[in-house]
Amino acid sequence: MTTSADLFQRAQQVIPGGVNSPVRAFKSVGGDPVFFDHGAGAHLYDVNGKAYIDYVLSFGPLILGHGAQPILDAIRTQLDKAITFGAPTVLEVEMAFKLTELVPSMDLVRMVNSGTEATMSAIRVARGYTGRDLIVKFEGCYHGHADGLLVKAGSGLLTLGEPTSPGVPADFAKHTATLPYNDLDALETFFAAKGSEIATVIVEPVAGNMNCIPPAPGFLEALRRLCTEHGAVLIFDEVMSGFRCALGGAQALYNVIPDMTCLGKVVGGGMPVGAFGGKREIMSVLAPVGPVYQAGTLSGNPIAMAAGLAMMQAITQPGFYDRLTASTTRLLDGMKQAAQDAGIGLTTNQAGSMFGFFFTDEPNITRFEQVMACDVPRFNKFFHLMLEEGVYLAPSSFEAGFMSAAHTDEVIDATIAAAARSFAQLKN
Ligand code: PMP
Repeated sequence: MTTSADLFQRAQQVIPGGVNSPVRAFKSVGGDPVFFDHGAGAHLYDVNGKAYIDYVLSFGPLILGHGAQPILDAIRTQLDKAITFGAPTVLEVEMAFKLTELVPSMDLVRMVNSGTEATMSAIRVARGYTGRDLIVKFEGCYHGHADGLLVKAGSGLLTLGEPTSPGVPADFAKHTATLPYNDLDALETFFAAKGSEIATVIVEPVAGNMNCIPPAPGFLEALRRLCTEHGAVLIFDEVMSGFRCALGGAQALYNVIPDMTCLGKVVGGGMPVGAFGGKREIMSVLAPVGPVYQAGTLSGNPIAMAAGLAMMQAITQPGFYDRLTASTTRLLDGMKQAAQDAGIGLTTNQAGSMFGFFFTDEPNITRFEQVMACDVPRFNKFFHLMLEEGVYLAPSSFEAGFMSAAHTDEVIDATIAAAARSFAQLKN
């Protein structure tokens, strides 16, 4: 029998660290990553046939669960026609109409192939539009791996940013400022000092890359006001929160409308897709209309567009998000109760069908430092107990969890029962 451990050994011979994206290697939780064979609905099956209830869902895209019939049908139909043209298609136009209809901030939208491409391109547009270089982002947010975004704060609020990865020139990092998330005072201070230099502020309106942190009351509103006052472009990176928190994304949920929005994950129905868009005036700087260059051989790929359109069709059904949000609340309520029964400190956060749980006695987790102070070894132990139980959680305490429409109450209750048994063992 070939196990995941055997496969991981083999993978490491030819792929750096055995994986094509670092979090998959289980480095933070320890142990060997699971190699999966197939998925169906709420479940994943590993190469040895073991079933797992999946709360990773490919890190967000699979909001209908695995193997959703409408998406498979759409892909199969398109496959018989063509895989790619590198020329305009009806499907991409339909997709653009759908997105501009659903996402409040988008007048014009362009498709790309990943979230990283979406944020990188949106930032270029914002810089081209404003004629400024400085970008502002927030600690604990992730916007993909473009050079200017792999940057952390310098020693003080106004000092130059520093690369978080070798290979990123300090000369690039100096154009990126990193502020604390959900901190209105820091925001005001920074804008007062540097407002006229800021091209754009990019933010996850619900942070999903430091576990799950919804915006503090007034945070997004302050961002909106300050960007408008200082002529900076406000970008919501909704690669994760888009079509997750609500149909119109976090911007619809919190009713704060950015100038530009980045999408990914759900929008592609599981295919490699990203999108960026925004106000007509801003997006019109893009080539071939304007001078800002951006392009892609496979952008707007017909198979990806077919999958994405089938996804849009499914998630726009009445009641879809109410059910999904209720399922997420059911899971979190059950987990909280089970933790309490076991005497384990657990705090949860939720934004629609995105969620996070924290091993801590703090009742509210709203800031990066609080996330960092949670009990990571306890999470790691819980992760492995749950894996043993057949529940697949994100392999890091700094990732958000996701619910799908395929997760029935029965599946959720089975997860809660598994969590109760795991909590009981955490004290040992
Ligand atoms: N932005 C956010 C908010 C994300 O969560 C991610 C990926 N998790 C990205 C951008 C980058 O997307 P991709 O991995 O598709 O490049």
